[in-house]
Amino acid sequence: MNAPVETIRDNLRQVRAAISRCEKEAQRAAGSVKLVAVSKTFSGDEILPALKEGQRIFGENRVQEAQGKWPALRERFPDIELHLIGPLQSNKAAEAVALFDVIQTIDREKIAAAIAAEQKKQNRKLKLFVQVNTGSEVQKAGIDPQEAAAFIARCRDVHGLEIAGLMCIPPQHENPGPHFALLRKLADEAGIAELSMGMSGDYETAIIFGATQVRVGSAIFGARPPLE
Ligand SMILES: *Cc1c(COP(=O)(O)O)cnc(C)c1O
Repeated sequence: MNAPVETIRDNLRQVRAAISRCEKEAQRAAGSVKLVAVSKTFSGDEILPALKEGQRIFGENRVQEAQGKWPALRERFPDIELHLIGPLQSNKAAEAVALFDVIQTIDREKIAAAIAAEQKKQNRKLKLFVQVNTGSEVQKAGIDPQEAAAFIARCRDVHGLEIAGLMCIPPQHENPGPHFALLRKLADEAGIAELSMGMSGDYETAIIFGATQVRVGSAIFGARPPLE
């Protein structure tokens, strides 16, 4: 049950218009917020209308799924920027470093070390984000906010990683504002410029709180099947 091509195109236009509106409202420069179109669970055929509409930044949450669909799309659209936004296992680090341009989900020492080793081995340099579990939820990935500063310092000093940004996914049934504010505070304290925060339900709020990237899936591609 793919969404019709026109629907995806119109959704994308609407999301872009909303981002522009929020940039203005927050008195931020036009174009200062990047849209990461989250294409997890959607096929190449469903992603194509977004590519044809000029979208180039995409997010996937599983290495294997992304490997199945992005190499072919990249042949047609070489300027794609692909973000890993789901948890990474260290045994997938080689594949992740080879395929993605940005990894947003560094949250533990072992992953930091694995990415550092692979970047060296493959002579690649990705843009890297640390994921922070702002709500300290037991089931959620991300470094605890209390440990974030020390972890970021170790990523830099021990593993030689340049950390460009912080990422968070606020608890589902809470007001996201305080979580966005916390992420911004942690980034400011660590001298980090980029903030990846805000999804379909709350990206407008996230922009007001300073997001430099929003990760929007269902508002563009339609509802996903309940089991992801
Ligand atoms: C799926 C996902 C999104 C997009 O969610 P929507 O609510 O569909 O916009 C954003 N970020 C992460 C980390 C995700 O896994």
